[in-house]
Amino acid sequence: MELKKNQEILLTIEDLTKEGEGLGKYQGFPLFVKDTVIGDRARVAITKLKKNYGYARLVEIVEASHDRVTPPCPVARQCGGCKIQQLSYEKQKEFKWNQVANCLKRIGGFSDIEEKMEPIYAMEEPWHYRNKAQYPVGLDKEGNVIAGFYAGRTHSIIPNTNCLIQAKVNKEILDVILPYLQKNHIPPYDEKNHTGLVRHILTRIGFTTGEIMVCLILNGTKKDLKNLPELLASLQQLPGMTSIIVNTNEEKTNKILGSVCETLWGQDYIEDYIGNVKYQIGPLSFYQVNPAQTKVLYSKALEYAALEGEETVWDLYCGIGTISLFLAQKAKQVYGVEIIKEAIDDARRNAALNHMDNVTFFVGKAEEIVPAQYEKTGVHPDVIVVDPPRKGCEASLLHTMTAMAPKRIVYVSCDPATLARDCRILCEEGYEIRKVAVVDQFAHTGHVETVVGLHRKDM
Ligand code: SAH
Repeated sequence: MELKKNQEILLTIEDLTKEGEGLGKYQGFPLFVKDTVIGDRARVAITKLKKNYGYARLVEIVEASHDRVTPPCPVARQCGGCKIQQLSYEKQKEFKWNQVANCLKRIGGFSDIEEKMEPIYAMEEPWHYRNKAQYPVGLDKEGNVIAGFYAGRTHSIIPNTNCLIQAKVNKEILDVILPYLQKNHIPPYDEKNHTGLVRHILTRIGFTTGEIMVCLILNGTKKDLKNLPELLASLQQLPGMTSIIVNTNEEKTNKILGSVCETLWGQDYIEDYIGNVKYQIGPLSFYQVNPAQTKVLYSKALEYAALEGEETVWDLYCGIGTISLFLAQKAKQVYGVEIIKEAIDDARRNAALNHMDNVTFFVGKAEEIVPAQYEKTGVHPDVIVVDPPRKGCEASLLHTMTAMAPKRIVYVSCDPATLARDCRILCEEGYEIRKVAVVDQFAHTGHVETVVGLHRKDM
């Protein structure tokens, strides 16, 4: 078989990657094709060839998969956001559940894992679920001010003020800001020449409180915004408007936010709840972007932790302490560990806001803090919860955890492959998987979240 660049071939798509690309095999040679779904028969053109695999571009669907739907968003294909909108939500759910099952089987060696897996916890409403949006601002060819999203892997802006996974109110917000910029001749930022003013529009919405934050990210300060009172007055008309802020970012950088914020109107933050726990969210704070499904995920973590009120619990990779505070409602004492100092500042603030005094936070690497604390105190925790980034846990941390011998370990994961690898180690060292929950936090993307409940075998 000789494949060449630009060659067109017919391909049947058999699988989907985590990134949401279709995968088909041409005489056994794997090809990744964006914009295709499992079951499509498609004409594709080779774009890139590596030794053992290649990439191709969709030319035409010859026979559409039964699971293919017309994406409701008109710019779904150009936009870098929703990679699998063309797959029915029913099928997306199946794909995500299978992906977790396959990783746990193949990488983890858990052959009968399906029996322990709950049905997927999918979204009731797989649209308008995100509470945070960051729109780059630019000009179209006619010189109109536009906002939207970057086309996949580029910095050209696809205009879109009505993104279907963002809260609906974003359109109303942009319908105020864009005409204001146009009318007052306030130039969008031009990243090539490092000129112009408005870089991004950031919005955050408290889904349980209805509070709205609008933050304009400027290559400058508020004094560069002509007729500012006019803008502020119009934004205040929107029900729920709570906080209007300018963030200054004068660097030549891809980073969206700078470090300095100035509140123009209202509060410096909005508030929101996950379950009964309240959070204050500023423009720079980390906060889960799908709070409804986050609640589902953390409720599962809490259920698998099976707390009765007297337990000592570690929450590793705790971020702003979302899981820690959730657990603290039911535990005697919770210890959270997180590498980013600012996240721990937020975690401590949120603990105080909720009058929780049974949580202690440490800044540092989990793989360093935990063994040091264990050596110092010798205390055996009842439960350890981990929620690491995609690369999973350091092996040394897993060994320390099993040496500490908690009754239960709850592993929350955003990458089924590293989850399976790490669970295998835990199970080789005295634990067994009791239950697995797959939670869909990001409909129309390939991302999947999993909670695994492990128990000590001898208990
Ligand atoms: N549990 C949190 C966030 C989990 S995301 C929540 O629910 O909100 C993973 C977190 O692990 C990030 O906040 C990241 O900063 C942190 N992190 C990454 N490497 C780490 C390490 N070696 N030790 C401790 N925290 C780490």
